Amino acid sequence: MIKCYQSKNEIGMPSDEDMKLINKHTLKTLTKDDVFCFSVVLCDNDIDRDFERFDVNALKTLEKLFIGKTGIHNHSMKSEDQNSRTYKTQLITDATRKTCDGLPYTYLKAWCYTVRSEKNESLIRDIESGIKKEVSISCASDNHICSICGESHCNHIAGRKYNGKRCYKTISGITDAYEWSFVAVPAQRNAGVTKSFKKEKSMENILKSFKEEKSVTLNENELKKVSDYIEGLEKKSADGEKYRLSLCAKIKSGFAVSFPEIKEDCINEMLVCLSTDNLENLNKAVSKKTGTIIPVTSQFYTEEKRTDNSDSQFKF
Ligand SMILES: [Zn+2]
Repeated sequence: MIKCYQSKNEIGMPSDEDMKLINKHTLKTLTKDDVFCFSVVLCDNDIDRDFERFDVNALKTLEKLFIGKTGIHNHSMKSEDQNSRTYKTQLITDATRKTCDGLPYTYLKAWCYTVRSEKNESLIRDIESGIKKEVSISCASDNHICSICGESHCNHIAGRKYNGKRCYKTISGITDAYEWSFVAVPAQRNAGVTKSFKKEKSMENILKSFKEEKSVTLNENELKKVSDYIEGLEKKSADGEKYRLSLCAKIKSGFAVSFPEIKEDCINEMLVCLSTDNLENLNKAVSKKTGTIIPVTSQFYTEEKRTDNSDSQFKF
């Protein structure tokens, strides 16, 4: 999901402590003169215009997950749009402010740095002048608790009234945080869209993005999917290899009977180059020549392919 927050940027010289935290994320040690630091409010526990809110536990999880995450433009995943990095986060409760339903207002603040360079000059100017201040975050959660029925999956629609009570969803159970982004306020407001759900990618879509995108970001669950998929492929590949070996053995037996003058080395060299389809064709041809179809036992070899040869393995 992507959520949008108006934030008051705090700009200042980084302290020695800040520089230590910043340099955890750099390959070369940066000095105070190398960086421009600012703060943003990433998210809070108030009910937003989409009638959703983060619970405080979700904010606590995000507080940890956002350290080291990049700040980008308009949620673009292009590496050239990644312009800042979060080096410090803090969950803050503002005693003077309440959420619209009377809870103490709690928000997640992030301190970020960008490198002072020609490329980042306009970004720094926009932050300093307050043009860039609306931030939205992209994260994943597996729980949206309904205020009407308390369930995570129900038919109540956020924003609608049920028996006089307005339904809102509480986001908890954060599974990942991806990035935060400066967003163009007018475009977002006019479009009326401040967030969209970032669903977990299916294996099909992950494979598609491997082919089509220059860089791919996967969450923990998606990585597990890829790892299971590779494991499945490895098993299939091992089974396929067994089947090929079994086919080759049958072909070699057939050659030994029909063409004893051909040396084994020569046959091996030929078999290794053939596709599995051609090995099957050759097996059939050699079997025909020797007057028998030599059965190949493998899970890939179906019963119907074996019907005519059950006892004929050694029928010459
Ligand atoms: Zn409900």
